[in-house]
Amino acid sequence: MTLTTISQLVSAGLLDADQAPGLEPVAETFRVAVTEAMARPELAAQFVPTLAEMLTRAEELSDPIGDHAHAPSPGLTHRYPDRVILHATQTCEVYCRFCFRRESVGASGHLPEADLTAALDHIAATPAIREVILTGGDPMVLSPRRLGALLRRLDAIPNVDVVRFHTRVPVVNPARITDELIAALDIRPAVWVVVHTNHPAEITPEAEAAFRRLTRAGVPLLSQSVLLKGVNADPDTLEALFRALIRNRVKPYYLHHADLAKGTSHFRTTIAEGQKIMETLRGRLSGIAQPTYVLDIPGGHGKVPIGPGYLEPRGAQWQVTDPRGQRHAYADVTNGDVQAPAPAPILTP
Ligand code: SF4
Repeated sequence: MTLTTISQLVSAGLLDADQAPGLEPVAETFRVAVTEAMARPELAAQFVPTLAEMLTRAEELSDPIGDHAHAPSPGLTHRYPDRVILHATQTCEVYCRFCFRRESVGASGHLPEADLTAALDHIAATPAIREVILTGGDPMVLSPRRLGALLRRLDAIPNVDVVRFHTRVPVVNPARITDELIAALDIRPAVWVVVHTNHPAEITPEAEAAFRRLTRAGVPLLSQSVLLKGVNADPDTLEALFRALIRNRVKPYYLHHADLAKGTSHFRTTIAEGQKIMETLRGRLSGIAQPTYVLDIPGGHGKVPIGPGYLEPRGAQWQVTDPRGQRHAYADVTNGDVQAPAPAPILTP
């Protein structure tokens, strides 16, 4: 059973009874849902409300990544020329305490038919759009019947090459990944599934079975995680998570720096802390297990990798830092204006 009230969280042992009264206003402001698979103490920080959420910093925003600044019609975000985000639903299986859409998720259910039609008309009328990202809310909360109908409408738009899901369902409620749902994903555009997961304890045997059902059906799996203080902001936890993912044929794709969502400063690290963690992981994990650490620039200016950087210009050469922190000179040598490579001085860190 999904826990949706403070008293249910207390009964499940995820909250102390003496904390409960103070948390009712938090639960009224930001919706609560914790699935059975996530109702465990080691995962509680992601889903159980705290008083810290009522503290809003001046820099925090209602719409940190600027979804609304690029919305040609309700439920559609068109930020980059070749792709759109379609918010097919605002419902999720769980409500994450750090969600950057926390002020909209859980509020309005599925996208009304008129808005969905307007969004699909925009996609069909804009041949530059090649990829449709279904997010939410969580698009995999839609029934296979409803999802299948939406996917068939996307299939009928010739310029759509790729449909990408952003979802937490395979980890937070793996039982939803049924044969019927997988059959609905079998359409002409390539379907990619990006699983949002933040902690190795989320990768349960049931989640692994859901990954297997998807990969056996030929669906490529990627992951995205959010760097969260008190949850995963240390190299050991992230190493365990990324190892569990590649073991299950899920390629770690993005590690997001936590967005400036309201009431989430207690989760946020500094960028320097994030870079340090990524630097440590580069020495430990193979390339296929490394996500790109990214920042969504507040205000809707897009997503960029934020390092750490391994290359700096040094006169006519480059200085490259290896995974152990040692620096090396590198000279560009091409078949044009060939530079005589200078003897590479080894610089101490
Ligand atoms: S599942 Fe995704 S959209 Fe829903 S609350 Fe969590 S982070 Fe936000």
